[in-house]
Amino acid sequence: MDMLQSPTHSSAMNKDDLLVIAGAGGFIGGSLTRYFHDKGFTRIRAIDKKPLPDWYQRVPGVACLCMDLSEKDHCIRAVEGATEVYNLAADMGGMGFIERFRVECLRSILINTHLIEAAYQAGVERYFFSSSACAYNTLLQQDPHVRALKESDAYPAMAERGYGWEKLVSEMFCQEYWAERGLETHIARFHNAYGANGTWYGGREKAPAALCRKVIEARDTGKYEIDIWGDGHQTRSFMYIGDCVKGIDMIMHCDDLIATPINLGSSELVSINELVSLIEEIAGVKLQRRYALDAPRGVAGRNSDNTFIKQVLDWEPSTPLRVGLAVTYAWIEQQVADRKAGKRVVKET
Ligand code: NAD
Repeated sequence: MDMLQSPTHSSAMNKDDLLVIAGAGGFIGGSLTRYFHDKGFTRIRAIDKKPLPDWYQRVPGVACLCMDLSEKDHCIRAVEGATEVYNLAADMGGMGFIERFRVECLRSILINTHLIEAAYQAGVERYFFSSSACAYNTLLQQDPHVRALKESDAYPAMAERGYGWEKLVSEMFCQEYWAERGLETHIARFHNAYGANGTWYGGREKAPAALCRKVIEARDTGKYEIDIWGDGHQTRSFMYIGDCVKGIDMIMHCDDLIATPINLGSSELVSINELVSLIEEIAGVKLQRRYALDAPRGVAGRNSDNTFIKQVLDWEPSTPLRVGLAVTYAWIEQQVADRKAGKRVVKET
């Protein structure tokens, strides 16, 4: 049988193991589906509640199912026969979404609660949960010159309201399913991911995609202005999607990372103003900046401390922001042109 060795550890997978990917109609789930397909996995079941035509990516040869995984019975059907389950499904978006729709964010708890129980009952070998840097204590993120967040900074807990608390409690489920019931779980705390095939308009998009779109629109309309949320001094790090999916694979197949939350993010810290400058450079324009000081801005500063991931995997997400942004910008530019021409584009539902 064809075996895939984990890049750093001895866990092995068969290429005909059934992988279930929840949230596969979205950005990261769609990219993870393509990643495993391209690695030669022949049995992938991709699931999302969105109708199939609205999925961001449909990978040929992959079984794609439209199911609402906040329902227990759907979760039981979803994981039937699975070796591994990846939970990338959540009701989420950028700052504009998670600050406004806290109840929707909290209700994502239903997905993980039912999916992990179904995975346990079905005897799956490994379960992955996509947590977030929003699980960290917000009191540690009040300064743009933030010290990077390390894994132990989640407790004492003061997570981001709504979205962050859902992540923290779902992490706890993963830890207790391992401690009490022996289900092998793996938990990554993603810091902002960006790249092609993600949300780029409609209200759920995150800063890199939103700013690429705004720069493209400013250039196309000849109105050389851009609205920026906040004062532009807030700082963040941004992880390229290629690093994100590779990191998920490595974390899931590392025996030292069972039920152990770990940062998966870039440590290249930039301010939003610097992010805009990078995109301007790529586009070859210079825009007049207008600051929307009462728009949602999130915490003042956030970065990923990668000491632990480097120690345990001898790796960290390292695609330079400039490189990943160029790819993302080109993809959004094409999407904008396609939408103008009346063609189907990635759209929010
Ligand atoms: P996304 O919104 O593009 O994808 C999430 C998908 O989950 C969507 O397609 C949505 O339709 C699906 N979904 C929602 N509710 C569902 C349900 N009840 N049943 C089935 N499917 C459902 O988001 P993403 O950026 O791909 O994020 C994936 C995961 O990573 C999420 O858990 C998110 O919280 C986490 N995360 C993402 C980032 C980031 O920067 N993108 C950062 C931190 C954490």
